[in-house]
Amino acid sequence: MDILAFNDVVSSETRARRYILGFCWKNHQRFCPKCRERKLYPVDGGDRRRCARCGYTFHDFSRRFLNGCAFDARRWLWFLKLFELGVAPADMAAQLGVTYATALKAQDIARRAVLAQALDAPALYRAGIWPGPGVPRPQGNGADSPVFGIIDLNGMAVCDVLPEVTPNTLLSFKFNFGLRTAALGRVVYTAPYRQYRALVCCGESLWPSRLVRHDDRKLAAEVTGFWSFARQRLARLRGVTPAQFPLHLKELELRYNQRENELFEPVVRAVCGFVPDG
Ligand SMILES: [Zn+2]
Repeated sequence: MDILAFNDVVSSETRARRYILGFCWKNHQRFCPKCRERKLYPVDGGDRRRCARCGYTFHDFSRRFLNGCAFDARRWLWFLKLFELGVAPADMAAQLGVTYATALKAQDIARRAVLAQALDAPALYRAGIWPGPGVPRPQGNGADSPVFGIIDLNGMAVCDVLPEVTPNTLLSFKFNFGLRTAALGRVVYTAPYRQYRALVCCGESLWPSRLVRHDDRKLAAEVTGFWSFARQRLARLRGVTPAQFPLHLKELELRYNQRENELFEPVVRAVCGFVPDG
């Protein structure tokens, strides 16, 4: 959506809300977010509805990602426009008139919403990633991210979570089989491995001692394709934690695959989606 069309959509709260509702309910057909029942009773003069089958009472944004942040519809759309443009969170906070913490929280929600759209989202949740607001946070150590394998084919990238590969197996490939490795901050990436252009991971276990270094040069993934794109953007963040790394990676995967299309609508659609149970 270009700036002029965007300007129309955010010209009033009513229009902005109508635009968002278009992504929430296909053909305005509301259903129960818990059991999908379509027979509903209005509650509180129509703002909320109660399911005839399971009794769940909900409003239009219940159980959706955008319910995790108390923005009105216009602020959500402005936030997502700034997110599309890659504006830094401090600048977002100033432009939206919200605190820095709120801008960070909205960014986190948008990234989790993007991740929920990925084909391997269930595998990421099994690996301990928190689906999003309204779902209990998994217990577990946050010392390492999962290991991802990058497939880069015909200009499209997939970052596949590889549950059978741990940071320790990655290190054993390095020491026992000479798999070459390099690092970007705490993120380690490798030379091609099987069908993957690179394995990538962020975590403490990749740096067991000062003697372990990841400084091989000229790895194939650096030159072209997804990882050369992602590396530049990750470098700008100046430090990613293992817990955030999968979110950034999935965001970059979407940005890369959509680099010739617009990002606004896919991201609006994502934050209008329901938070998966995990
Ligand atoms: Zn129901």
